[in-house]
Order: sequence, then structure tokens, then C-alpha cells
Amino acid sequence: MGDFSFELNEDQLQVIKWVHDFAEDVVRPAGAEWDEREETPWPIIEAAAEIGLYSFDFIANCFADPTGQLLPAVNEEMSWGDAGIALSIFGSTLALAGIFANGTPEQVGEWAPQCFGSAGDLKLAAFCVSEADAGSDVSQLKTRASYDEATDTWTLNGTKTWITNGGIADVHVVVASVDSELGSRGQASFVVPPKTPGLSQGQKFKKMGIRASHTAEVVLEEVKVPGSCLLGGREQLDERLVRAREGKSGKSQAAMATFEASRPTVAAQAVGIARAAYEYALDYARQRTTFGKAIVQHQAIAFKLADMRTRIDASRLLYQRAAWMGMNHRPYMAGEGSMSKLFAGETAVWVTEQAIQILGGNGYVREHPVERWHRDSKIYTIFEGTSEIQRLIIARAVSGAKIG
Ligand SMILES: Cc1cc2nc3c(=O)[nH]c(=O)nc-3n(C[C@H](O)[C@H](O)[C@H](O)COP(=O)(O)OP(=O)(O)OC[C@H]3O[C@@H](n4cnc5c(N)ncnc54)[C@H](O)[C@@H]3O)c2cc1C
Repeated sequence: MGDFSFELNEDQLQVIKWVHDFAEDVVRPAGAEWDEREETPWPIIEAAAEIGLYSFDFIANCFADPTGQLLPAVNEEMSWGDAGIALSIFGSTLALAGIFANGTPEQVGEWAPQCFGSAGDLKLAAFCVSEADAGSDVSQLKTRASYDEATDTWTLNGTKTWITNGGIADVHVVVASVDSELGSRGQASFVVPPKTPGLSQGQKFKKMGIRASHTAEVVLEEVKVPGSCLLGGREQLDERLVRAREGKSGKSQAAMATFEASRPTVAAQAVGIARAAYEYALDYARQRTTFGKAIVQHQAIAFKLADMRTRIDASRLLYQRAAWMGMNHRPYMAGEGSMSKLFAGETAVWVTEQAIQILGGNGYVREHPVERWHRDSKIYTIFEGTSEIQRLIIARAVSGAKIG
């Protein structure tokens, strides 16, 4: 018997079933309502907190799975329920990942639980990188952080945009430039604690999909945070800046590796939407008859379903591989994390569109969820690195060429 296996173990299956049941019983039935309301679904987050699903402990438990499979798998289940609500529940995890990636153990201990709070006292977190003129090209961040040695205080100024949970979060993790000449290597991450003066919400965006997830600008005007809020600490930052000024390689590559490692989880969310649409379309195709037979018996429809299922399974295998590699510190020599996000994102858009087609007129109206799932899916070719940026990463990794 070899070691290789595609099977999840009993513990993993149990957790996944538990999350699936919540997605089926609580999240899926609420999807249409919160899409229409375009608001953060607080009662659903509260329900998730009450059973321990929205909590730092649960996420830490998933992170601790040595196979790397649990975190993406539970993300797939929740997005299968509803992607917008799932993002409201897992959006805080983005900030948590930023704290984990850059913070000291003490900082993780202090801030990670505050990203979630507890039932009856919910907290949210936001990860603030993007700006109006710096989305794909994060080297162009204009938000500045300046340090005052005398008071051990950092002052942050700038405007972030497209921020999930922006302005309504308790903990904001903000990436800012400390030395603009060094581009992305002159940047650092800061925790802005709850209720810090100077941080406010700018405009809230009205979106095409994932409308239960709050997306807004975050305005930072003379926001003052103590030195202890610089993730990783002063010494580490100074060493990194010295290396960058000397032109040596360093932490910015490590940051890229962290992004690569989080992509399988984002890919899994896209797989969840695609799977929901595929299952719905399959059921529909079995029941709907035209020309005297179920439409699933028309080869044109049956082949669509075959292609949908094939691409969904391929997407899942890609995210499972990338998640395993990330957890086991295998280098992504061919951009495998990006491959998973690229393929799953584009699959979700394609599969949900096929599902609309299979439902015909019913696919185009709000009585059925597939039009919503199609709207929700589109974000997966845009955020966390657009499809073009994923292709850039893969192309550079496999060719070694300078591709702009
Ligand atoms: C709903 C939503 C939630 C988000 N949540 C967050 C969040 O929580 N935190 C956060 O920091 N950000 C968040 N974002 C921002 C998101 O990550 C950016 O929108 C994304 O990175 C793209 O940046 P941009 O919109 O500026 O597009 P641009 O960078 O302006 O890109 C425009 C187009 O040009 C293409 N392009 C750009 N450069 C290249 C290149 N070199 N080669 C080929 N094509 C290229 C892009 O692929 C895209 O098609 C969110 C965005 C949305 C819409």
C-alpha cells in the first residue's frame, strides 16, 4: 500500500459535514434576502458564532490541519451555501492571514482573537491593501506611514478602496509605504485597533454580486498607532529596509509566497459556487421536459453537464494540490497556487453561465438562484489577483522570462 491518497480522513469529513449542514440549513436559505438587502448579514454571522463556526479557534483549528485541506474545504462548503454570506463570515480571515504572515507570536496572540470576537460580541476584521491607483500594481501604494521616535508612534495617511468589511471592521490591517522609493519592498503592515480616531469609512460600493459582503473605502487621516502595532516589529522592518536598499532579496518574496499560499482557499470558494450551480442545473435538467423527454437526455445539455462536472473536479484537484504544497512548504515552482485560483475562478464564471443556459428563461430570473450565483462568481476573476495577474505569475514561474 502506498502513502498517496485522495481520501480525506474521518476528522476532516466530520468538520466538513458540520459546515455543510450549516451552509444548507442556515446560509443557503438566507442567500437571496441578503443579496437584495446588500448588507452585512449580522444574524447569520451571529448564528455561525453561536455554534463556534465564526471564531478564531475554528479558523486556527483549520489552519492546523497538516494536510492543508480543511480550510479550503470548509470555504467550498460555505460558498456552496452562499458566496456573499460566506465572505461576510470568512472575510475576517483575510486580515488574520495578514497578521499571521507578518506579526510576531505576541501580536498574533493579541490581535487574532479580536478579529472575530464571540457570540453576543461579534467583531470583524478588514485587510486593507488596494488603493484607487494601486490594485494589481501594489508597488504604487500612496498610503504613507511615518514614525516618530520620541513618542514611538506611527502616523498613517491615505485612502484604501474596495476593502471587504472596510470601515465596519473592529480591526483593520493596513499595508502602507514607509519608504516609497523601495516600492513594494518599502511597505509594512500595521494593525489599527478598534475605534482609533482618524479611520473612517468612505463610500460603500453597490456591487454586481457577493452583495451580502460589505465593500467600502477606508479613509486614514492622521491615524496614530503605537509602535507595537507595526506587524513584525521595528527591528525586523529596519533589517528588511537595509537589505532592500542594498538590493538583496528578502521579505517581499516571502510575502508573495504567503499570497500564493492563500490562493487555494479563494479557489475553493469559487468551486463552491460552481458546484452549487452544477447541482441545481443537473436537478433541473432531470425534471424539465421538452420534445417529450427530460432535457438531460438531449445530448447538448448532457454534455454541458459533463463538462461542468469535469472542470469543477479539475478545479478542486488544483486547489487541493496547491493547499497541500503550501502546508508542506513545497515551493510553487510553476505558480501552482495561482493556477488553482485562475482555473477555479474562470470555471465558476463559466459553469454558472452554463447553468443559466440549462434553466432557460428560469435561469434569467430571480426565482431561481443561478443568476445570483453567476453574479457572485465574477468576483473570482478579479479580487485576490485578477486572472491576468495569475497568468503573469504562472508564465513568469514556468518561463523564467521577464513578462510585463
Ligand atoms: C468586491 C471586492 C472586494 C475586494 N476586497 C479587497 C480587500 O478586502 N482588500 C484589498 O486590499 N483589496 C480588495 N479588493 C481589491 C481587488 O483586489 C482589486 O480590485 C484587484 O486587485 C484589481 O485591482 P484594480 O481593481 O485596481 O484593477 P487594475 O489593477 O486597474 O486592473 C485593470 C485590468 O488590467 C489588468 N492588468 C493590470 N495589470 C496587468 C498586467 N501587468 N498584465 C496584464 N493585465 C493587467 C487587470 O487584470 C484588469 O483586467 C476587492 C475588490 C472587490 C471588487
